[in-house]
Amino acid sequence: MQGRMMFQPLLISSLIEHAAQFHADTTIISKNTNGSIHETNWLEVSENAKRTANALAALHLEHGDCVATLAWNNHRHLEAWYAISGSGLICHTINPRLFPEQLIFIINDAKDKAILFDKTFLPLITAIKAHIPLVKNFICLEPFDADVAKALPEVKFYDELISGQKPDYVWPTFDETTASSLCYTSGTTGNPKGALFTHRSTLLHTFAACLPDSLDLSANDIILPVVPMFHVHAWGTPYAAAMVGASMILPGPGLDGDSLVNLIDEYQVTVALGVPTIWQSLLAAAKQSGSKLTTLKHNVIGGSACPPSMLATFRDVYDCETIHAWGMTEASPLGTVNRPKAKHRKLSVEEQAALRLSQGRPPFGVNVRLVNEENGTHKLPQDGETIGNVQIKGHWIIESYFGKEKNSLTEDGWFDTGDIASMDADGYLHISDRAKDLIKSGGEWISSVELENIAMGHPEIAMAAAIAADHPKWDERPVLIAVKQPESTVTEADILDYYEGKIAKWQIPDKVIFVDAIPLSGTGKMLKRKLREEFGNVLLGENA
Ligand code: AMP
Repeated sequence: MQGRMMFQPLLISSLIEHAAQFHADTTIISKNTNGSIHETNWLEVSENAKRTANALAALHLEHGDCVATLAWNNHRHLEAWYAISGSGLICHTINPRLFPEQLIFIINDAKDKAILFDKTFLPLITAIKAHIPLVKNFICLEPFDADVAKALPEVKFYDELISGQKPDYVWPTFDETTASSLCYTSGTTGNPKGALFTHRSTLLHTFAACLPDSLDLSANDIILPVVPMFHVHAWGTPYAAAMVGASMILPGPGLDGDSLVNLIDEYQVTVALGVPTIWQSLLAAAKQSGSKLTTLKHNVIGGSACPPSMLATFRDVYDCETIHAWGMTEASPLGTVNRPKAKHRKLSVEEQAALRLSQGRPPFGVNVRLVNEENGTHKLPQDGETIGNVQIKGHWIIESYFGKEKNSLTEDGWFDTGDIASMDADGYLHISDRAKDLIKSGGEWISSVELENIAMGHPEIAMAAAIAADHPKWDERPVLIAVKQPESTVTEADILDYYEGKIAKWQIPDKVIFVDAIPLSGTGKMLKRKLREEFGNVLLGENA
């Protein structure tokens, strides 16, 4: 017998409708590309999203067409992204830090019909324009600008385009499994691959993201998504903020530590989200300015492993609870989140601190298992010690990549993440590496993340990457590539000594190489592949 409850498809438009009706005057602060501040609220965002939807319809874009955005986190981007998905188009958020060849590839692969871009990215657009013939509309997310109009004569300006439109658009209703947005993975090998999200997967992910045991978001929060909207939807925050009616501070292009500290203090931010490299510069800026980040109740760190020293600094110096989360583009992105359970209250302070180091446990909606090999199906024990390949399954996990017929799952329906971890009985996942970053020394695995975490605990190290270097006897041995804190005189011997007693002797790196900077990917992760290319041979010719 069928149940007798209403059925409403889970659509992204319902989020903005809800925010406009029940959180109309909740503030959204947005930093423009010229650095000026724009203040708006959920009602205005919703009305402008409807104006934009009318404007897009007038451009003869059709249901299911991809419309790209190449933009920072700002209010026009937010309006446009609700307009695009809400009206049945697919919002393709592009990472501007990709190489031009990759940009051309993904824009053509997605068959984008229009691109909405911030003025910052005008040079990128003019450079690739000749190679993206399917894009018929270039919309600059600004008021009229003579420089932009001169460089790109066919450009339309967002403010002009929507000013003539009425906010009378009625969001269409369609199947909840319709595609809503598209993100490409960074593509460290080969071309980037697209993850195509549905309205349903996005809404279910949003419910889970807001939960107290996830990102713990509410109408009482002022959220600063430092993580860009082009990095897996800023980890879902623009959707989550609308769902709970939170206030948002959109930082625009100013992602340096000083700008972020100022935003947190000026707008009393309660929650901020970003990758560890962002927090690194924010902590340095806060120390320099003497800010205590008083309003920051918690910060979400993910995208790469959060070094224990960073967690301790937020807790002890800033009284800020770090929520360490693990995820990936293919998981929308939330996979696990580190929040304690009631039983952990009994633990000592040290034990609690140790528990908070892992990447956490899955919320309802994602299932996680460890298996014996990549794409394997033999399940390993959940004992907190056994290390295996992490596979996931759930309502917001990818089935197949955009444009690929074949599904990307194991024969029993799980997605292999390419990550290596242990998991305890409660589901707390401890990521030791990407499979390809593990260091295999004489047949034994060494976790590069663990070596990096220890190095980052040294007060004179600003950033560190551990890589596998080829070795004549042991196949591979760890080498640490490190950036010193400004004016530090720390030596290789000091760092190697620092490892003593913290890990087994044979796991201590063979060499420490100091560099001025570690190359970062478009989403702020250390590019270990580049480091391996450069330093992978440094141990050859040496005797063990
Ligand atoms: P992306 O799809 O670009 O967000 O990259 C996803 C990958 O980032 C994951 O498969 C992990 O290897 C890595 N990652 C994300 N969050 C964490 C974390 N908290 N700790 C360690 N690695 C992480």
